[in-house]
Formats: sequence, C-alpha cells, structure tokens
Amino acid sequence: MLKTLFLNPPSFEGFDGGAGSRYQAKREVRSFWYPTWLAQPAALVRGSRLVDAPARGLGLDAVLPMADDYELAVLHTSTPSFRSDVRVAEALRQTNPKLRIGFVGAHVAVSPAESLAASPAIDFVAREEFDYTLEEIARGRPLAQVDGISFRDGGRIVHNRPRAAIEDMDALPFVTEVYKRDLVIEDYFIGYLLHPYVSLYTGRGCRSRCTFCLWPQTIGGHRYRTRSPQSVADEIALARRYFPRVREFFFDDDTFTDDLPRAEEIGRRLGRLGVTWSCNAKANVPRRTLEILRDNGLRLLLVGYETGSQQILNNIRKGTRIDAARRFTEDCHRLGITIHGTFIVGLPGETRETIESTIRFAREINPHTIQVSLAAPYPGTELYRQAQKEGWLEEKNGLVGDDGVQVSSLSYPNLSGSEISAALEEFYKRFYFRPKKVAEMLFEMAKSRQMLQRRLREGSEFLRFLSRREARA
Ligand code: SF4
Repeated sequence: MLKTLFLNPPSFEGFDGGAGSRYQAKREVRSFWYPTWLAQPAALVRGSRLVDAPARGLGLDAVLPMADDYELAVLHTSTPSFRSDVRVAEALRQTNPKLRIGFVGAHVAVSPAESLAASPAIDFVAREEFDYTLEEIARGRPLAQVDGISFRDGGRIVHNRPRAAIEDMDALPFVTEVYKRDLVIEDYFIGYLLHPYVSLYTGRGCRSRCTFCLWPQTIGGHRYRTRSPQSVADEIALARRYFPRVREFFFDDDTFTDDLPRAEEIGRRLGRLGVTWSCNAKANVPRRTLEILRDNGLRLLLVGYETGSQQILNNIRKGTRIDAARRFTEDCHRLGITIHGTFIVGLPGETRETIESTIRFAREINPHTIQVSLAAPYPGTELYRQAQKEGWLEEKNGLVGDDGVQVSSLSYPNLSGSEISAALEEFYKRFYFRPKKVAEMLFEMAKSRQMLQRRLREGSEFLRFLSRREARA
C-alpha cells in the first residue's frame, strides 16, 4: 500500500467543507460535519491517515510538513473551495515533488478535464463513488487500469471508463474505526445536534430528484443503496464502545426514511441498544412510522421543507405537498420529535410574495430550529443547467464570498440577487425574534447548563453573522 494521506484541506476559516457537508460554506454558527466521504476510503487503505484541517483548525503551515511523510495525497474538494484546494495541492507538491495527488468530490466528478487542467499538481481526479478507486490506486495499480478516474498521461488527459456504483454496502468497512484513529469527536458541532455527536451513512443515494440537490445528481445517484439493519446496529454498538461520551448518533443518508420498513427495523435495533439518534427525513413520514422511531430513541428529524410555496415545490420536483408537510409536522410536535427545518430562498419561481408565504409557513409550523440557505446552483445539477439556459447566473459572484459565507449567485428578472440575500436575514429575524421562539429557547437554556453555554455562544455567533451580512448588503 502507498502511504496515503486523506486530506480535507484548509481553506476559509471555519469552512465546513465537502467531505461531509452537502453545501459547503462557513455557517451562521460554528458547524462541522464529519468528513465521512474521506473516512470511508481511509477505512479501506491500511496505514492511511485522515486529516480534517478546517475542523482541527489547521492552516497550510500545519499541513505542509505532512507532505514528506506520504506517497499519495487525496484531497476532497468542492466548487466553492476548488481554487483554494488547488493552492494547497501545489504547495504540497512543492514540498514533496514525488507526492502523487488526487482530487475527489462532486466538483471534479462533474468537470474532470477542467479540474485537471487547473493545475499540473493534480495527477488524477476520481469520479463517481471513489472508495474502491482510491484503494486500487493506493495498492499501486497503474492509473490506466483504474476505473472511474481521469488522469494526466504526458500531455494528454485520459478518461477511464466509469466506476460501477457500489451494490454491497455491507462490504464497506466501518468509518467509526477511522473516526477513532484520526479524528477528535469534540471538533464536530452541529447547532441542532447534541454534543458530542457522531454521524455516518447507512446508505447512499436518494430516490427523489430535487433539481438543486448536489449529491444524488453527481455521486450518489437515485437508487437508495443500503446497509443491512444488522450492520448499522453493529457499527453503532461499536461507536458507543469507542465513544461513551457521545450523546447522539446522526444518520446522514440523503433521506433515511426513503425505505420505511428498513428505517423501522433499524429503529427497533437501536431501541435495544438504548441510544439517542436522529436522521434526515422528507416531510411525508407517516405517523405510525414516526411513533415506532420515537419509541426507539429517535430525538430529531432534519427536514428539508425548502419553501412554503406549492408551486416552487413543483418547480424543483421535491415530490412533497404543503398540506402533507403540515400534517407531518403536527404529528412530530404531538409525538415530541424535535425538528430542524431547512429552507431555501431564491429557488426558481421565487417572488417577494412566495418569500413572504414561506416565512409565514415556517412560523406557523414552527420547527424547533431552522436553517435558511440561498439557492445554490452547483455545477452538475439540474438547477445549474436551468440557470445557465435562462440567464439567471450571477457568474461574478460564485457560491461563497471571500470569507466562505454563502452569497446569492442567482437573480431573476423579477427578483434580484440582493433581494434574495436580504430575504435570508429577514427570514431568520422573523422566525427567531418573536416572543414564542425566544421563550422556547430560554426554557431550553434554563433546563441545562451545557445548553445555556452553548446557546449563548451560538447566539452571539449568529448575531455577528447577521450584522456581517447587513454590512455587506
Ligand atoms: S429529498 Fe433531499 S436528499 Fe433527496 S434529492 Fe431531494 S433534497 Fe436531495
């Protein structure tokens, strides 16, 4: 095996990069997802090391000395961080001219030739699912024989045939082993999850076809390929042994509830383990399933509502209905399941009126916490193609600003990018700064000292975030 470094590269300070985060940006409050997409191949490559520079707070100076210790470096990149990641690759190459460097992630999967052309420091890019691709390269297989890569061969760029999707998900080794070996679990914060938490995937792919959504359209696909309930329960049991201080497990599958009987079966097994857990869900889970999950330790659902406009839900092919989302949310409230709701402003069809109805909808259904994002046209998505065709792209903007915070990169004839940006601040303020929500938050803080300290820190970060956005507008 080549000595292999898996690197989530340093970039903007506090940047939640793509090796675990769906939409890469610096968030309103300090947030880091686990770099699970790198941990998975790292679990296949014996003797490798995974370094998550942003979460560890490591800058380029701290990462460069590592270059001499390795023969192969695999960097996870994303559209917002690509240029900065190229600079890291070039610096690594300068430090160790013999180091072979590969890039992975949705950005290079979509634009392999352009990515390779960006710098001679990138020897190959791995497209599609790259776990076994990287294992083969680490084993020393010649690049010409490795499925799923594009690579530099003299002056030419060669595209090998595609890598088949992984079908036997149980054959993948547990990422928990790599978390234990290489990561510090306290580095990972998500505002709505208990701390410390551990997250992993129990399957890949999403059956839905939302036009803006990155992973299913680039790497994961639209079949939900899953691990067996026993494999999931075994890994959680192991994780609990390794990290007894973990307070919550999170299943970050695109839509964990895509297969209801399986979700219920996993729930029952987790119930026997007695752990607290949470997952991603669409706003259409039937009450009976919610009850089973809740009775077996489910604490929170991360729900992509996106908008309060049925027309926009149709435009983005979300496959959900506003009335069903209302019913589902009401069921969760009655069953005591906490909801973190995610919304997007600036999707196709957005107007001042639909923004207003979405804010009202969010206040009415009242998830415990929310996240509001600006519509982000990532290359490789239907939204990107549509925006290019319709002339909605604000090319000069990119997806994030110089500080790594999201900026609006879409504008419509009837709604400018700056109006979309301003709607984000307004949304947050009108959702959180109302007596009912303030009282809820105070009550939560009064119940737990840890929550008090945490909410005070997050509250001040959140206010700083809002004032920075106002200053920029
Ligand atoms: S349901 Fe969620 S994960 Fe699936 S395509 Fe839509 S946004 Fe993406």
